[in-house]
Amino acid sequence: MPNTRAEAIQAHDREIDRLEGLVASGHRFLRFPRDLEGEFVADFSARYINYRRRVLLVAFLVLLAAGILDMLFVHGAESQAMVLRYAVVSPLAALIVLFSRSRWFGPRQQPVLAAFVLVTAAMMFGLMSLGDAQLVLVYSPGVLLVAMFTGMLLHLRFWLALTLLLLIGGGYLVFIGELRPQAPELVAAYSIFYVTAAFMALYAGYRVEHSARRQFLHRRLLWLKQNELEMANHQLQELVDQDGLTGIANRRHFDEQLAAEWNRARRGGYPLSLLLIDLDFFKNYNDTYGHQAGDDCLIVMGSVLRAHSQRSGDLAARYGGEEFAMILPATSGEDAREIGWRVVRDIAAYRIPHRASAAADVVTASVGVACIVPTPLHAPRDLLMAADSALYAAKRNGRNRVEVSPWSGDLAPVGFDAGA
Ligand code: GH3
Ligand code: MG
Ligand code: MG
Repeated sequence: MPNTRAEAIQAHDREIDRLEGLVASGHRFLRFPRDLEGEFVADFSARYINYRRRVLLVAFLVLLAAGILDMLFVHGAESQAMVLRYAVVSPLAALIVLFSRSRWFGPRQQPVLAAFVLVTAAMMFGLMSLGDAQLVLVYSPGVLLVAMFTGMLLHLRFWLALTLLLLIGGGYLVFIGELRPQAPELVAAYSIFYVTAAFMALYAGYRVEHSARRQFLHRRLLWLKQNELEMANHQLQELVDQDGLTGIANRRHFDEQLAAEWNRARRGGYPLSLLLIDLDFFKNYNDTYGHQAGDDCLIVMGSVLRAHSQRSGDLAARYGGEEFAMILPATSGEDAREIGWRVVRDIAAYRIPHRASAAADVVTASVGVACIVPTPLHAPRDLLMAADSALYAAKRNGRNRVEVSPWSGDLAPVGFDAGA
């Protein structure tokens, strides 16, 4: 478990390095590595969706109002102009505005808006071709506006906007080449304006996307760093709560947990059991087999206790030295005694030789059990004292056994004789 968290922190570190590298690189070409690119595009689309809706709404109103130009300049083909403007392009803008809140639109904004731009440009070309060539001069500024709108206002991705403006510019050139308007100098001037406008708009669009990318990286970095901090805090908390040798809870955590479970049991009116476990003749063991072998015994004991404290709220702890403790909430004295016996049997079943023990020829443990339904008249300390007295009785009665405090199960005040 600590291993996987350490690995997770390492993975975070690597990702932070990578993102910081990207920030430093300046991402001038507006392209992230594949995995990030997908997320950025989704984020960029989602982030500006309301803004795009407003811009489109304005475009819709402008399209409606500009019908006045058709009335002034298109002679003889008014109905075609009406169809183009009011039956094709304006409804399309209205439809996009209407559906812009739908789930369908979210991930498809860029292609849908690109299609709308192309249709609008096609409308301009269409209007230019509805009559004498002077219409080219009337609607050319419109093409310019479309370019500004596309490159700068729509917040399309830069490369997409560039492609669109090249297409529209190219289309414009082809178109006026065919129509040969009477004032070629004016058309040349408009072409220069178009290139300038497109350039300015694209520059603005580039800046928007570039800063959106930088913000995206910074947000991600912040998130990763917060996450890493949380994980490190968690790890630290675990270390603070853990016994360094056995990996189970330490005394500090035990005390905290006993107080918490005591209050919980008191509120819930259910029994709280406590086991105190002590290795038999452990001083002799150390003297005979060495301190290192003694430590190994303690580790085994830790794993035995861990195996028997699997319910939520159960806690196995190293109480100090070769003494252990187990908190068992909502467990009767009877059940706690049974668990105590399992611990006694399990540790003996390891058959760790102990020739200096008077209790057996293997390492054994004695267990004291106490149980109480907590009341305001008692404190956790009383439960500890009762379990300790029971442990003392187990030692006196020959070790390698479980004794239960006579106090268990009732609410008698402290001061009983455990040996009685
Ligand atoms: P009893 O059967 O009555 O419990 O006798 P005991 O020898 O187990 O009890 P005692 O309290 O006299 O000795 C406890 C021993 O536990 C003394 C100490 O050397 C040993 N001990 C305490 N902490 C550690 C530890 O972290 N590692 C090792 N190896 N031994 C420890
Ligand atoms: Mg002992
Ligand atoms: Mg002891």
